[in-house]
Order: sequence, then C-alpha cells, then structure tokens
Amino acid sequence: MGCGGKRMGKIADKYYLVDPWSIIENVFDPTYGLVSESVFSLSNEYMGVRGYFEEGYSGEGHVGSYFNGFFEETPIFHPARYKGFVDVSRDMTNSIDWLYTRIIIDDEQLDLAKSKFEQFNRTLDLKTGILNRSFVWTTQSGKKLKLNFERFMSMNINNVGCQRIVFEPLNFSGEISVISGLNIIKNNNDNEYSKWDVVTSEQEGQIYSILAQTKVSKLRLYSSFRIDCSCKYGDKVINEDKFIGTMFNIMLEQGKKASFDKISVNYAAKKMDDPEIILDKGIELASKYSTVTYDQVMSESLCYWDEIWKSSDIVIEGDLSNQQGIRFCIFQLHQTYRGSDPYLNIGAKGLSGEGYGGKAFWDTEAYCLQFYIFSNPEAAKNLLLYRYNFLPEARDRAKELDCEGACYPISTIDGIETCGAWQHSSLQIHVSGAIAFGIYNYNNICQDKEFLYTKGIEMLLEISRFYKSRVQQNPLTREYGYYGVMGVDEFHMMVNNNCFVNYLAKKSMEFTLEVINEMRVNSKTELEDMLKKLKVSQEEINKFKIISQNMNMPKTEDGLYEQHDGFFTSPHIDLDSIPVTDFPLYNNWSYDRIYRTDMIKQPDVLMMMFMYSNDFSKDIKAINYEYYEPRCIHESSLSPSVHSIIAAEIGRYKEAYEFFKFATRLDLDNYNRNTNEGLHTTSIAAAWMNIVYGFGGMRSDGKLISFNPYIPSEWDSYQFSIRYHHSLLHVKVTKEVVNFVIKEGKNITISVFDNTYNVDENGITVNLQKLY
Ligand code: BGC
Repeated sequence: MGCGGKRMGKIADKYYLVDPWSIIENVFDPTYGLVSESVFSLSNEYMGVRGYFEEGYSGEGHVGSYFNGFFEETPIFHPARYKGFVDVSRDMTNSIDWLYTRIIIDDEQLDLAKSKFEQFNRTLDLKTGILNRSFVWTTQSGKKLKLNFERFMSMNINNVGCQRIVFEPLNFSGEISVISGLNIIKNNNDNEYSKWDVVTSEQEGQIYSILAQTKVSKLRLYSSFRIDCSCKYGDKVINEDKFIGTMFNIMLEQGKKASFDKISVNYAAKKMDDPEIILDKGIELASKYSTVTYDQVMSESLCYWDEIWKSSDIVIEGDLSNQQGIRFCIFQLHQTYRGSDPYLNIGAKGLSGEGYGGKAFWDTEAYCLQFYIFSNPEAAKNLLLYRYNFLPEARDRAKELDCEGACYPISTIDGIETCGAWQHSSLQIHVSGAIAFGIYNYNNICQDKEFLYTKGIEMLLEISRFYKSRVQQNPLTREYGYYGVMGVDEFHMMVNNNCFVNYLAKKSMEFTLEVINEMRVNSKTELEDMLKKLKVSQEEINKFKIISQNMNMPKTEDGLYEQHDGFFTSPHIDLDSIPVTDFPLYNNWSYDRIYRTDMIKQPDVLMMMFMYSNDFSKDIKAINYEYYEPRCIHESSLSPSVHSIIAAEIGRYKEAYEFFKFATRLDLDNYNRNTNEGLHTTSIAAAWMNIVYGFGGMRSDGKLISFNPYIPSEWDSYQFSIRYHHSLLHVKVTKEVVNFVIKEGKNITISVFDNTYNVDENGITVNLQKLY
C-alpha cells in the first residue's frame, strides 16, 4: 500500500506565493490571520513574537510575545492522585507586547479589521530575517497614507528586538499621532486573566521600562524601549495599569517619507536567578544599548544570517515549492535555537505560539540535534549541556518513579517533568535513551572528548543506572525488558517489551560501557573520579553489560520486530476505512478507542531503525516498513519524515517524495490545519534530515560517515553542506553524479556507495548508482 494524503488526513492548503527566498502574502485573508501570525513569527532563541499587527487589530488574532524558558506555574488537578503524578505545569507565558503601536489620523485609529486599505503585502525575507508589511490606508476623511512596518530580532544581542515604521502621505500633508509602548498581554490562549503583576514602570530620559512579575512562579521580566525619531514632537508619557508608553505627533509632508525606530531591550529571569537582580540587570542592558541604532543592529544581524546561509543552505533546482519549504524550515531552526545559552531548549512550537506550553520533548535529541550537530556544533553542545544542567531534576524524577539514576522528562520547560497526563510522564521512559543517543551522535560527529569525559559520561552513567533500576526479567526466558511502558507510538499504553524502548535502553548501556572502556585508556583519573562521585561499582558496570546483552528484542524469523508483546495479535483496522473527517483522532474518537487496534500514531519500530540505522540491514528495514507503514496514521507531525527516509533507503522513491512534501511544507501549506496554534518547529527539523539522510542517503551512526545518494525525478539537482569532524563538506547531487568538496577545514574520509574516498578542497565526483 502506498502512502496517501487521504489516510494522513493531510491536504495542502496553498496560500503564500512561491518564492525561493521569501514568504509572501499579497492579499490579506482574515480567515488565514492566525496561521500567518505563526508563519511570520520571528525569534532569536531568547525572545520571539508572532507576526501580529502591532498597530492593533480587532479581528481574530493572537498577540503573542514570548521568552524562551520563561514560565508561569499552574496546578494540575487529578481527581485521584497516585505517586509519580505531576502536580504542577510550567508553561511558557505570553508576556509583553513590546511592538505595541497605535496610529491615529483625524481621531480615526488604524485597524485593518475596520479601516479601508489596499495594496497589502507582507513579506518575510528568509535571507535576512526581516519582516515587512505594507499597505495604503484611506481614512474616512479621504487621506491616503502608505505605511510600512518592519521588524527583526537581533541575532547578535539576544535581548534586543527592533521595529521601524515608515509613513508616506500620498495625497495630503498633515499631522498624525502615534502611541508606542510596552503592553503586558492579558490573555493566554486558554485563559483570560492576567498572569502578571507590575513591580515598577517608569520613564527615564529616552528609556521607558517596565518590571513585571508572574503571579505564581514569581519570575521577573524587565522590558524597555526607546524611540529614535528626528521628526516627532509633543511627547506625552502614558503610565497606566500594565502599560507604559508615549504618545507623540509627526507632521507629514505629501510625497515625503517619515519614520521612527523602536529599539526594545529585554531581560527575562530564569528560575535560578535572584529576583532582586533582574531590574539592575535590565537597566544595565538598556543603558548599554541606549545608543545603538536600528541600522547598526540590523547590519550585525544581516552578517549573522549571511554566515548561516553560506554554510547551511540547501539548494534544490527544479522544485521551487520545496526550495521555499526547506529554506523556511532551515530559517525556523536557526531563529528558534542558536546555542548561545545552555539553559535554553527548543519548544515543540518554538517561540511561535503557546501550543505545547513552550516545552521541550524527546524531539530535541531525536529530531533537532542532528541538524545542529551538522550545522552548528556549538549549539548542539549547548543542547546537551541543557540536559546536563538539569541532571539533578532528572535524578529527582527517577526517585519519584521509585527508580535510580536519571529519568529525563517527556515534557519540560525548566528541567522538571510538567506533563499532566500520567501515562506520558510516567510511562514514556525513552527520553533518557534519546539523550544518550544524542551524546553518542555528538561524539561521533563533533569529536568533543572533553564534553564526553566530563559531562557526557555523568549523564550516561545516570541514564544507564535508571534503565538498570527500571528493567525486569521475563521469568521464563530470563530475558530483560521494560514492562508497563508507552513507546514512541502513543496509541498503545502500558505495554510490555516495546522494541524501541528496549533497544534504546540497550544501546544507552552499550555506549556507556564503550565510553568507560575508552576512558580507562584515555582518561583514567577522570573516570575513577566520576565513578567515585556517583558511587558506581564494578558490579553495577557488569550489570549494565548483562542487561544489554540479554535484552529481549522480539522478532519473527525473517526479521519483523514485534512493536511490543501481543502487537501481532491486536485486532486489525484498515486505516483507509477511517473517514478523513475523523482526523485528528484525538479530537474525534473516545480516548480508549485509539488503544484497541494495531493502528499506530507514528513510527516506533521504524524509529529505532532510523536512529540506529547501521544496526539494521536494508532487507530488515523493508520487511518492517512494509508491515508498519500501512498501520501508521501519522497523527504526529514527526511521522512522515522518518517514513520518507526509510522509504528512500529501501527504494520506495515515490513514497519517499510524497512523505517528504508534508515535512517541508507542513506549516506553509497548513497540512495539519493547526498552524494557527504555532509552527511544528521540532518536526520541521526532520525536513532537513529528509534531504540529507533521505535523498542524500547519509548515515552517521557508523565509524565512517556514508552516503548513498538518490535524486528525486522531479529535481534537476540538490546541494547541502554539513560540518563533520571540524570540516565543512559540500555535497551536490545531479541526475548523473554526486560531488563532494571540502569548503573549510582538513580532508575527511567518507564512504560513497560502499567505497571509501578521501575528500579535499579539490573534491571528488562519483557516478550515481541505480540502487533499485
Ligand atoms: C508526539 C510525541 C512528541 C510530541 C511533541 C506528540 O504528538 O506523539 O512524540 O514528542 O508530540 O512534539
């Protein structure tokens, strides 16, 4: 059976113009407003804003402004509470609208839900990260004013965001009034009450500022702005409840442009920060950047993006739509996380909406980390350091679950488990295994032994210890396995011997043993100190070996793995018989109904084969793909891309391409019809893997990096670059050949179609092989 949009309930909703470097909306459709707010969201990993209309919009919209990791706490109510249940949720909170603007002419306030306007255009330039929106407003008195709103986030100074508004009166000369300020956003998606108290708000010289604190978590946020404008006059300070700003006038002259710049400087507390220092820290930053101009911040940001695109662009010739799609994904990944702070992570929706509470999942290590490992190793390291920094919380979680070692949370904003659904927070124990996989990958590609021998080993030992304490034995076969778990496939709860979980635990322990052995030779003292610190005995190390060697991995004689005990005898459901209108099933089926068949939500056995690709032959992958793919409903956006990669490897090229399209244009074409809630940031990381691992056929889990490239018949060529062993390798695949060349750094050895090559700056060219 081939994959199908119908079964996935996914059909493209084409709205934006297709362009290789920009996302363009040239007619404003209010019914698409929320989706566009997500698509046009901007961030710099520290702060993010949705693409809302800053001048105020009374139609349907969601003003969203967020700080990564900045949360409010709410209690979770359980009618019956058992040990291990999570009692509080910590969710990224909507915060301060620092873009807040109101524009008034002749007592009429601009509002695109009510005002008359034409020539609307909104363009996000992916090359520069600059968002522009322009239109001509005709007032009730007949005045025509052209406006351009421009905004961007500084990619060099995390705390800074910039806005420029340009006015061009087309048929009049006269005065306009502007209000610009900092407005605390009162409504989160799910509740209307304000989560904020204002501690202070003031105006001092050019700088307007507010210090606010969340009601329960008591986290403080300092926000400030100043306006640069040579033509404004009559400034009045407005200091009201949860708002501080200024009202000023500008005298416009027909045909001449006038503008103002707003530079906002912000400082958001982390949970470990002393609340008393936030104000001082904020004031210090605001004064440090009090003379930096809009153009200076922009030119530095442009340099940042320039460097990014030089080393991480993917070029597809012959397919403009996917070219745009993949660049959008790459742009989102870089703006969501760039690795300047090891206390920040990647929320499942980045900083584009409140969906998933701004929390990080196992998605980070299983889906996103590869992108950073191969494009920005420093950022990859900081993602792992984030887990290291929250090792104490993972140890606490293991204890809550009556285990030892470190159990990393399925859903977290600050290291503690905050998933209120107990079946996920208590049974999904694969996050720790995904982190071990991340450390394994990072070590393989970036060769950072300093990290591995100091922090990596500590996490690995604690992860293995957790899996050792959670494992149980089959009394008949004496094999080890995990009982009462939920694997990646969230449509089967409380199962025994989930293959993926068993395998991840096995591999975590094996890798831990490998690093111990390596350190015994290379770093003996550090190893001994670490074993002493964690009180790890030789007996415990031996136990890791015994468990990993005797892990139950149930499969048929021809290599079909059973997802978990009893899966093969689960009642079958023909997925094509489910009406599209039933999707998403979580919203339309009673909760228990999804657990009763052999239908799976997302790849589980196949995920294991994707992560540890070299451990499974193509034939085994084909057998498992043929069995599991028709049983997969792809209810998670993480699903199509992994199927695409495996489909490409086993020669099911048509399916690989179909699945790939969902991944690259998931949000641009609103395939899941929920982009209004935010972007699918972690799943779009897989779009990158789709090209590099899928079509490029790259595998990086062996000792040698290997490529088995293929080119979709729809394309003329494609190119990508990866950072590998401190070098930058550029790969170009045409219909006939594949070319590899070193762009930075020393020569590297790679395998192409099972032959080994040394690649230098002169490059090598290999004929494509017909693999099927
Ligand atoms: C998926 C999980 C994923 C989470 C966040 C869920 O729908 O089933 O695997 O971690 O979304 O992306």
